[in-house]
Amino acid sequence: MNFHDSERMAGILETEGYSLTERPEDADLIILNTCSIREKAEHKFYSDLGRLRVVKKKNPEVKIGVSGCIAQQEGERIFKKAPHVSLILGPQNLTSLSELIEVDRRSSLEDRPDYAKAEIPTRRLDNIKAWVSIMYGCNNFCSYCVVPYTRGRERSRPLTDIFREVEGLSQAGYKEVTLLGQNVNSYGRNLEDGTDFTELLYRLHDLKGIERIRFVTSHPKDFSERLIKAMKELPKLCEHMHLPLQAGSDRILNLMNRGYTYRDYKEMADKLRSEIPDVAITTDIITGFPEETEEDFEKTIVALREIRFDGIFVFKYSKRPNTSALLLPGHLQDEIKAERFSRVLDIQDYITLEKNRGIIGKNIEILVEGKSKTDNDKMTGRTRTNKIVNFIGNIESKGKIIMVKISGTRHNSLDGEPLDFAQGKPL
Ligand code: SAH
Ligand code: SF4
Repeated sequence: MNFHDSERMAGILETEGYSLTERPEDADLIILNTCSIREKAEHKFYSDLGRLRVVKKKNPEVKIGVSGCIAQQEGERIFKKAPHVSLILGPQNLTSLSELIEVDRRSSLEDRPDYAKAEIPTRRLDNIKAWVSIMYGCNNFCSYCVVPYTRGRERSRPLTDIFREVEGLSQAGYKEVTLLGQNVNSYGRNLEDGTDFTELLYRLHDLKGIERIRFVTSHPKDFSERLIKAMKELPKLCEHMHLPLQAGSDRILNLMNRGYTYRDYKEMADKLRSEIPDVAITTDIITGFPEETEEDFEKTIVALREIRFDGIFVFKYSKRPNTSALLLPGHLQDEIKAERFSRVLDIQDYITLEKNRGIIGKNIEILVEGKSKTDNDKMTGRTRTNKIVNFIGNIESKGKIIMVKISGTRHNSLDGEPLDFAQGKPL
């Protein structure tokens, strides 16, 4: 979501005559688009901001801005801490960017209910896959999470605006869109016309040229049978569900204010797997939430073993400002959080490897995204289930959907051999 907000700020600035540069020394304007989901991201921001002091010293004309969730959270305190900053911009205020670059030391941090209706120019950094925001903010107030405080209330964009944006992408040759929201299953809840998420999916599915549709993130509490039905009926909708579990213990899920039990979750995962063959389910796990006992934690391990996710993101619980979990007794020491974190990683690494080994020898469809980032001689693509496949091929395959035979598995990716041929050349 943050990455896409950066694309939008770049789009706005392009209309103001700016262009992108890789080198801070060459820039007239530098904006740090920040994340405050965990404390670590915040530390990184302050060290990056410190480094920019040197750039500002060398070139006093350069304007430095801070956007994103830390900007919203800290507000004008950032001016005090860092006098070299000249503008501060909250995540709902991207449309104020053009005004802010004209003045010095101003901020834009208001709650903007109308932001969901704004049409924002976007400078996309990829020409095959595109991120598309369908809603902003969050109303769930999970007790550990800062997002409802930094991104404000949940607001959905009108369906017609999203449709027009994706239509534009299809005309521009994009092949894949990923619909973004903190809780896409509740898309439309604030819209007067009664539109819901599945309706949006059916509408977007009609657009020619777009071959794959993905979405993140679904909240288990709002998961619907209609979504499973849509996945069955819409061939472009990829068989991948990122469904954050967070913890295996009902006591902890309750303290987290997640609104489901492990049994609810397990039933959803079972249903998905029985109705959508080969669906990939991925998740987020937090270790060391306040009051998590060894017994609670073991329930997370049982969940990993029972559900056998295709992939997970795991995080050590991090204290965030304003959140209600701060008030819980029984915050754990970092060593405990870290030890549980590595146990989760070890178990999941083993499961991922086992699952990936199971695909070796199979023929799978991938959308080729371009050159591999780790090996310049290889091309890279993703399966419908969002697994990365690297293969030896040529650049003309970029943007094409091809079949590969999976030949090996590595830590975070698969190796493949292309099966399709174009004009006599292997793709
Ligand atoms: N809206 C999404 C999640 C967005 S944040 C959802 O509810 O599924 C992405 C992930 O960051 C969360 O799923 C959670 O696992 C993690 N996270 C959020 N706040 C955190 C915190 N304070 N400490 C550790 N992990 C956190
Ligand atoms: Fe945070 Fe929960 Fe909202 Fe996700 S659903 S953004 S974890 S409050």
